[in-house]
Amino acid sequence: MDLNLSVSSLNRVGGAVAKKLDKIGIHTIGDLIYYFPFRYEDYRGVLSIKDLQEGMMVSVRAKVELIANRRSFKTRKIITEALASDGTDSLRIVWFNQPYVVKSIKPGDTFLFTGVVKTDMLGHQLVAPNYERTNTSDNITTAKLVPIYYLTAGLSQKLLRSLVKQTSAAVKDLPDYLPTEILEEHDFLPLPLALQGIHCPEDEVDLANSQKRLKFDELFLVQLKSELSRQKRLQQQAPVIEFKEREIKELVKELPFVLTKSQKISAWEILKDLEKSSPMNRLLSGDVGSGKTVVAAMSIYCAVLNGFQTIMMAPTEILAKQHFQSLEKLLGKKLNIALLTRSQFLGVVDSQVIEFKKKDLIKSISEGQFDVVLGTHALLAEKIILSKLALVVIDEQHRFGVQQRKVIKEKATGLGGLAAHFLSMTATPIPRSLALTMYGDLGLSVIDEMPLGRKPVTTRLVESSNRQKAYDFIATQVKSGRQAFVVCPLIMPANNLESTDGDQLIFFDSANEKKSVMKEYEYLSKQVFPNLNVGYLHGKMSGKEKDDVMQKFKNGEIKILIATAVVEVGVDIPNASVMMIEGAERFGLAQLHQFRGRVGRATHQSYCLLFTTKEASGSTLDRLKFFEKNNSGFQLAEKDLETRGPGEVYGDLQSGQEMWKLARPTDYQLIKIARIAAAKISSNLDKYPKLKEKIKDFIIGNHWE
Ligand code: ADP
Ligand code: MG
Repeated sequence: MDLNLSVSSLNRVGGAVAKKLDKIGIHTIGDLIYYFPFRYEDYRGVLSIKDLQEGMMVSVRAKVELIANRRSFKTRKIITEALASDGTDSLRIVWFNQPYVVKSIKPGDTFLFTGVVKTDMLGHQLVAPNYERTNTSDNITTAKLVPIYYLTAGLSQKLLRSLVKQTSAAVKDLPDYLPTEILEEHDFLPLPLALQGIHCPEDEVDLANSQKRLKFDELFLVQLKSELSRQKRLQQQAPVIEFKEREIKELVKELPFVLTKSQKISAWEILKDLEKSSPMNRLLSGDVGSGKTVVAAMSIYCAVLNGFQTIMMAPTEILAKQHFQSLEKLLGKKLNIALLTRSQFLGVVDSQVIEFKKKDLIKSISEGQFDVVLGTHALLAEKIILSKLALVVIDEQHRFGVQQRKVIKEKATGLGGLAAHFLSMTATPIPRSLALTMYGDLGLSVIDEMPLGRKPVTTRLVESSNRQKAYDFIATQVKSGRQAFVVCPLIMPANNLESTDGDQLIFFDSANEKKSVMKEYEYLSKQVFPNLNVGYLHGKMSGKEKDDVMQKFKNGEIKILIATAVVEVGVDIPNASVMMIEGAERFGLAQLHQFRGRVGRATHQSYCLLFTTKEASGSTLDRLKFFEKNNSGFQLAEKDLETRGPGEVYGDLQSGQEMWKLARPTDYQLIKIARIAAAKISSNLDKYPKLKEKIKDFIIGNHWE
């Protein structure tokens, strides 16, 4: 069986199922084989209720028939009582002083309950057992570790398991691309056994060994690829950009503020890199509002002083426009700056902002009239000549798809003949531990402090009973001259009966986002804030429409802006003081932090109000409480990374190859082994043809190769 074969070649995969699989990123047999379970349910100790005996520590899988709280007559404490059955018999379950249990467990749900059996006149009872939601329609007959996969609506665990099973023959025949000496040195499982073990483990030991082998592969391939790119990069010739100390110092002196220490250090690191004759590959990572733009502006200015041209790319039109305005302020008197997006064609020529026709702007750029060209990826679709291109700055680099990055890279290199220097920026704080492992060949500069005078945003998780109070609060803020954002929840596919909340993978769907925004808009503009100007913003709007709304919000015409994740990236509205987030549990912490960073950008005390779809409990509550107290983007990202892969944390789920399904930046031991192995292998890769073939198509996600 060929791994590149479409999944449609499997039994039970018709058009409809294929579409669903497509949604979760499974297109080929290979995708399916590498679609790993995210947890396992242990059915080995599961007993039938009819076989229970007093005093046993057991797990039973039972459907809840009734559940309710009552107050103990004697102690006045809350007792939660449930009745559950598994088809063989029923049993009673009680919890003391845990009234919130009724919020997690509803009649009709099936749970795995684990606890000690007590038997009395009325039969068996479990006291305060642990409970874990399980899959209702599964008919698991043999006791084992059962894989649980992320699903989307219309797919079931059972179906996915049966599809994976159909690939087992193909898995057995897979060639192992890891050099034998590595396998032997570290006692790794052969690839086929590891793949078999991760989908259908014999026991914990088998599972751990399988995970270890596959984790290693993820780490090793990234390290190897990085090492190879590094070697390639060092062979390339880039324009040398001399550090123009006097002019840069002057620019810094003209700024209306004093640079922070880490801004200075970052700028210095970048300017040092630009002096080299091999292309820079550097990531500038800093929390929202930490002031990355001015650091980029310094390097742009330096490149232009050396007689070169520069490009700065942003992932959205709004951001591109904002950069245009910032750079116009910082450098407009010194440089000619162009803005070219799908719908915006502007230029600063001799300190004047001029509106261009698209054709004319392209012509002027190609004739060399501009030192800096700003744009979105639409810029690259145009036939533009920048014969003196030396520096490419990419803002919010992880927002660009893998394919877009490739095009940028190719275009940028093709334009001037020499390879351009690359500076990518991200407001998503990337912990050093992650950068080192995930981006082997990447210089990292970090801005880890805020400009003086910023007040931390006050964050509160708000109970739904206080919703009206929150609206009143927003109205008061607006009355005192401020503005507010309302972020709508990510829409999840209709809940698949077979899977629990946590099993659903959330996919960005702009049609749904639009619906969500419009519904919220209807409600807030008509019912809640009928006397205030409310606007909306979603991904289905054209660049022009979005820009209009943002302009109106910026100049204060719109007081409350209802939006989707569109507002996440870099938007600067200093007057906004409230960020209200609906369905907060559906966003990662790093992403919530991005939203929060939209407020508190001036001197006004600002607020971030979190609402959840259901009353938060358990790990959701913990996560959001952590967010409430924590204002460091780096720490939030790290917290996210403990439980989710970098792809999920950094919203890169759909951008082609996902490489970190299992490995985590905290896998220090394996990372070390992988790095040493990669360094050893990279110098004589020709000796390992299978590995060479494997690494050829391997794309490193967030990386400029
Ligand atoms: P981000 O890192 O999120 O891209 P920006 O570059 O947009 O942040 O900067 C946010 C705001 O902070 C801008 O208005 C900018 O002019 C201002 N700023 C940048 N550096 C400083 C500083 N050292 N002191 C005060 N304000 C600064
Ligand atoms: Mg920015």
